Amino acid sequence: MTTQIRPQPGIMDIALYEGGQAHVAGVSDAIKLSSNENPFGCSDKAKEAFQRAGHKLHRYPNTDHAGLRQAIGDVHGLDPDRIICGVGSDEIIHFLCQAYAGPRDEVVFTEHGFLMYRISTMAAGATPVSVPERERTTDVDAILAACTKKTRLVFIANPNNPTGTMIGLAELERLAKGLPKQAILVIDGAYAEYVEGYDGGAELATRLPNVFMTRTFSKIYGLGGLRIGWGYGPREIIDVLNRIRGPFNMSTPQLEVGEAAVRDQDWVKRCRDDNTRLRAWLAEALAEKGVPSDTSTANFILARFASEEEAAACDTYLKSEGLIVRRVAGYNLPNCLRITVGDEPSCRRVAHLIGLFKAGAA
Ligand SMILES: *Cc1c(COP(=O)(O)O)cnc(C)c1O
Repeated sequence: MTTQIRPQPGIMDIALYEGGQAHVAGVSDAIKLSSNENPFGCSDKAKEAFQRAGHKLHRYPNTDHAGLRQAIGDVHGLDPDRIICGVGSDEIIHFLCQAYAGPRDEVVFTEHGFLMYRISTMAAGATPVSVPERERTTDVDAILAACTKKTRLVFIANPNNPTGTMIGLAELERLAKGLPKQAILVIDGAYAEYVEGYDGGAELATRLPNVFMTRTFSKIYGLGGLRIGWGYGPREIIDVLNRIRGPFNMSTPQLEVGEAAVRDQDWVKRCRDDNTRLRAWLAEALAEKGVPSDTSTANFILARFASEEEAAACDTYLKSEGLIVRRVAGYNLPNCLRITVGDEPSCRRVAHLIGLFKAGAA
């Protein structure tokens, strides 16, 4: 029987997202530095909350997420009524595209921007517009030049993944104020907690009517497996997103663990301090071995090799030694490898192996 069942136009053009590899054939205890996960895991308070939530799994979760929104609001000094929670910040990105972009609309992001922006844009039937960066850094003027009367959303990860670079709040404000009237600036703060004293764009999203911020529990909170994210911005935008959000999008464990995790800021500070120290050590160790990187503000380093062939060969060698990093050719960075800052032994091991590789001893 032949059918005429077809997905919406554009859906089959979406390239499947590939997560960081987790296993190497033949290696049982590979070190995974491919997904920017917290090597120390999540806080004990979060683990205890997860245990407790196990006793209530027969009950539906609440639909208003009031407890988690209140906790986030308390910790960040934000109005809980302007917060929305989602299944990872991926879901918030998805809501934004579904709600604000459709056929004939354009969604702007940068050439080395996070892949989910393109996927969610195309899922909504809208047109992705990729803008050049300057030396692997967001270029506000290039973005403003790319905006048209069709632009509905502009996504900037700050710090950006996979480059690790970021721009200042004054530049973000200049971008927001220069956008066409119908466009929203989305500041993705997935790595904001790694930057001491940076609010992720919260103050801008409080003050300006066209700025929205997304955040996640997947990175510094060490909860990537649980899928918790949130968004914050103008009340009007929150109201729109809540209309397309499934009432039970967040499970009880997500809500309760998120609440416990966000209230444990001591854990966040310890993880930030460790990351800052180990990141500096790793960047310097790699530079000494002839592998430069831009100054990273996140929990990974974008290591630059002489060529695409050299990056690929180094990746293959590291894998053969049980160490998984991330190839970023799909981010238009074929000569680079993205390396998550792991614990101290992992940092030493990756630096040692790359040193052997560069010395031709591998
Ligand atoms: C990891 C990451 C996220 C987080 O996604 P979740 O769905 O919250 O796990 C968001 N944006 C960027 C740029 C990221 O690197």
